Amino acid sequence: MRQAYTSIERRSFLGLCLLAGGDVIAQPIKPTYFIYLSDIFGLLSPPQYIGVANELKTLFDPIIRLNGRYSSVEVLWIPTNFLKYPLDSLAVHITPPDCSIANEARGLRPSDPRDVLLTDGATFIHNDPSKDNGDGFVVSEVFGSTQDVTALSRLIFHEGMHNKLLMSSAQLHPLGGLASASIGPGTLLTPGNIQSMAAVLHLPRVQMKDALAKIIDRRLRRDTGDPNWNL
Ligand SMILES: [Zn+2]
Repeated sequence: MRQAYTSIERRSFLGLCLLAGGDVIAQPIKPTYFIYLSDIFGLLSPPQYIGVANELKTLFDPIIRLNGRYSSVEVLWIPTNFLKYPLDSLAVHITPPDCSIANEARGLRPSDPRDVLLTDGATFIHNDPSKDNGDGFVVSEVFGSTQDVTALSRLIFHEGMHNKLLMSSAQLHPLGGLASASIGPGTLLTPGNIQSMAAVLHLPRVQMKDALAKIIDRRLRRDTGDPNWNL
């Protein structure tokens, strides 16, 4: 994916080089940065999927430009069988407030009270997710407790900051803007937020590989009437 030119593009580029005298060194086209979102419980509607994708792209555009390693950012609502994330990517799952997959990953029940009651999202960092050869991973979720597209996009961005910066609440929230403890539709992306994220965007962050499978399992159990579906 990083060497993202096709054979046809390469041929025409080499053709141009030949016309220009053949002294140009081919530069690979910059890759796209991917953000993967899931909504296994169907908490949002199709217009909200489009709205959230567009607003997140707007938030990440200045970060992509400052980072300089990517041509653009793409936000994909992933199909349920998509289980492999590129190492530099970001994944955020929309889950019901009483089914926290971050809780489950840290060894609690998904329905257990979270660290801060009435929180809108969670990120769990296990060991060192910046290394692909260990047991480290990170998982981020936003609880579908709001239907406001702008607020949802900003909450996803906030959990994305925990995810990419590998920061706890105590480390992240004092940075302000979309890093703040309390995020609403009017919370602004600050130049500091852009600089922090641009510095780490390309770095490996192993996203929890079986998060989707676990969320799918919880939904199937709920839908088939299992009273313990989120215990
Ligand atoms: Zn936070």
